Order: sequence, then structure tokens, then C-alpha cells
Amino acid sequence: MMALVWLFLMLFVQETVFSMAPGRTAVSNNTSVPPDILRDFEVLRQQYLKNPHDVPVINALGIIYARVQQTEQALMLWRQGITVDPTYIHFYNNIGSALKTQKRYDEARNVFISGLKVAPSYWIYYNLGLLDWEIGHWAEAARSFEAALLYNSEFEPAKRKLKEMGFPLPKGLPQNRLPSDASFAMEPKPPVSIAPFISELPDPLEYKVAIEEKPFAVKSKPVKSRVPESDNRVDIAQPATLTVDFLVDSIKRKIKDSEPKVIALTFDDGPHPTLTRQLLDYLKSENVSATFFVIGSRAEAYPDLLMRMKQERHEIANHGWTHKSLVSMGASRASSELERTAELVGALTGKIPVAVRPPFGHTSKSIESMIHQKGWHQIMWDADSRDWQDGNSTRIIRRIVRDFRQGGIILFHDIHSGCLRSLPVLIPALKKCGFRFVTITELIGIFQAAS
Ligand SMILES: [Zn+2]
Repeated sequence: MMALVWLFLMLFVQETVFSMAPGRTAVSNNTSVPPDILRDFEVLRQQYLKNPHDVPVINALGIIYARVQQTEQALMLWRQGITVDPTYIHFYNNIGSALKTQKRYDEARNVFISGLKVAPSYWIYYNLGLLDWEIGHWAEAARSFEAALLYNSEFEPAKRKLKEMGFPLPKGLPQNRLPSDASFAMEPKPPVSIAPFISELPDPLEYKVAIEEKPFAVKSKPVKSRVPESDNRVDIAQPATLTVDFLVDSIKRKIKDSEPKVIALTFDDGPHPTLTRQLLDYLKSENVSATFFVIGSRAEAYPDLLMRMKQERHEIANHGWTHKSLVSMGASRASSELERTAELVGALTGKIPVAVRPPFGHTSKSIESMIHQKGWHQIMWDADSRDWQDGNSTRIIRRIVRDFRQGGIILFHDIHSGCLRSLPVLIPALKKCGFRFVTITELIGIFQAAS
């Protein structure tokens, strides 16, 4: 009997929430810009020039340098960042992890311990544990993983490591586990302006082009404009041709009383340094919760935006690490794309994401069952804004109203400005029709409760 109920639930759920809208989401022609973090360099550089003490921007710039293997430049930026704000823990995590990658274990340990002195965080303890684990100091590693769990008992990656090593999970209340013999790796320095420093840094994109072209010794081509579509704030007051009242009429014609009046807004491919921030501002002003399917490699560069999403009661979900199609790679690579992102989100927010959307919606039976085996859900969408195709708010809204259904999922991308242009009409209209905005996990709960 239970099995039968479960089968019905699965069929129902697959038919309703998790399957692609037939025909419309053919993904072969999805040409959305690959959300490579390197594209953000110019946006970040401009932000930095406006305010050279913006630590999240310094942090993200450092990540970009680290990505093109300019680790020394990255380390310099992060160390400078610490002089601006010694309490910003991401600098300690990044410096320590970069040093660990270079096998400079003692230096890395000192940096993590310095970070712990600033703010004992489960994430730094976890990184310290990984360091000791990597060099075979299992007892020390276990102590650090335990400490991570004492600060955040929900932190799955630390639990997994302890289990893997055969250590029991700790019991008891959080306590200060700061190693007493820790020495500061970095002497506090007075804040300095780093503006001249950054203007001398080479553009990491040109550096990358140079590496790629070296073997062929061709003349370097001019690099295409890398400024994303919108590096400045989008004018969201710009009126859509469709008015809220017109939209209310169109939506009301589709409403069925038998169906729940809920909608899940989802945003893929971010975070983006300006657009996601502006979107979060807007959603907050409307008191609306949404789900962000983040790309791990971008999330790593914008930890503040992830923490803000969590604080403002949005759901963070998994969209892979590099945004490559999972179907096009081997099973273990596909699995690690998702695991790596899950682990990073867990480290930043303390919570492992349970909703997964494979990039481009490319999936297969084996990808889907791999996701289910991890205890996660594969989530597609019902209405596709195709905001990557054009930013015209009227066309975006028309597509959504045509395809959306009650209890359904709407797909946007927070690396494109279309969402910011269309939501200020769409959200008030849906609210006027009595809709409530839910996250993916809430939506799953509603369907499970109804079945
Ligand atoms: Zn995507």
C-alpha cells in the first residue's frame, strides 16, 4: 500500500512540479551567455574604483586572480583586504585555502588560526580540518571537524568527514575551541589605500588570452568588450507596456479555484555583483521569497550575497559548479559538479541545498537518479522568461503569463536585467490575484501535503 502511495506521489510530482514544460524548454537553442566569473572583472574594477574599501569587491577580485592561477596577485589583494577590514573572515578562508593548494601548510594553518581569533566560524574550523586531513593528521582533523559541528550542528560536510574517518559525532554545547598556541600570521596594519595597487594589476582576462595564444605565437587579438549587459543599476521604475491591471485581468482568466494560489520564482546562473544585489533589494521591498539556483564558481566569489539570500529567507539551490551540461560529462564529474557546489553553499550558509537544476535543463535518467540518490530533488520549470534572449519586459511578461500555472515554477536569470524590468509589474499583479510566493522546498511541501 505504502509503495503504491509512493508511486502515485512520484508520478504526480513528476507530472506537475518537476518536469519540463513540453516543447518549450528545448534547450539545444539556449544560447544564454556562459556565466563565467571572469566576465565580472570590469564590473568589479569599476565598483572598486568607486570605493576601494569595498571588501566584498576586493574579495571577488582576488577570486578572479586565483582562477587564472595568478595566486600571488590574489594573495596580495586578500592580504590588503585584511588591512581594510580584519574582521572579514572570507579573506582568511581564501588565503588559507590558496596556501594549502600550494602545499604551504604551516602558513595556511597560521592564517586559519588568525581567522579563528577574529571570529570562530564553523567554516574556518572545517578548512583547518581539511588541511590536517590532507596531510594525514587525522586526530587534529577530527578535532577541527568536531569544533565546526559545535558551532553549527547542522553542518553536513563536517559530519561526513568525521564519519568517513570513523570518528563519532560530538555531543554537547558550543564552546571555545580556539587553539591556545596560535600565533597571528598577519600583524594588524593600519588601513591603507589600495587604489594605486589595483590599477597596476594586469587584467586577468588578457592574461588568460595570452596563455591560450602563446603556443601559436599569433598576434593577440583585441579582446571583445567584456562589460556585461548591465554593470549599472537597472532602472526598474521603467514602465512596462503591460500594466498591472491589464495583467491582473489576463491572470484571473486562468485561475482555477481548485488549484493552490502559489508561485515559485527561481533565478538561475548567479550571483551577479550588481544585478543580484539589486534584485535582493527589490524582493525585500516586496517581501517576496524566491529560490536562487546558484553556480558554485560564482557563489564562491560572492559569499556576502549568499549569506544575504539566506538571511532574507530565500532558498539557495544547486546549479552545478561550472554551468557545463551534466549530460555531456562522465558520471563522476557530474556528481562532483553538484557536490562541490553543495559543499560551498553548506560552508557559507550552514545548509546543504536540496534542490538541483541541471544547467540548461539538460538531464537524463542517470543524472536524475544520481540526484535522487543524494537525497536531493531535480527541479525544472513551467514558465521560461527567456530573459537571456531579450530584456524586453513586455515580451518576458507575455511568455510568463502564457505558460505559468498555479503551483508552478517561473524561470529567470539574475545575471540578466530582464527580471528587474518585468518583476515590478508581474509581482504586484500576481499579488492582486491573491498569489503567494513560495520557495521550492515550500512548494514541494505543499504538493506532498496535498497528495
Ligand atoms: Zn543556467
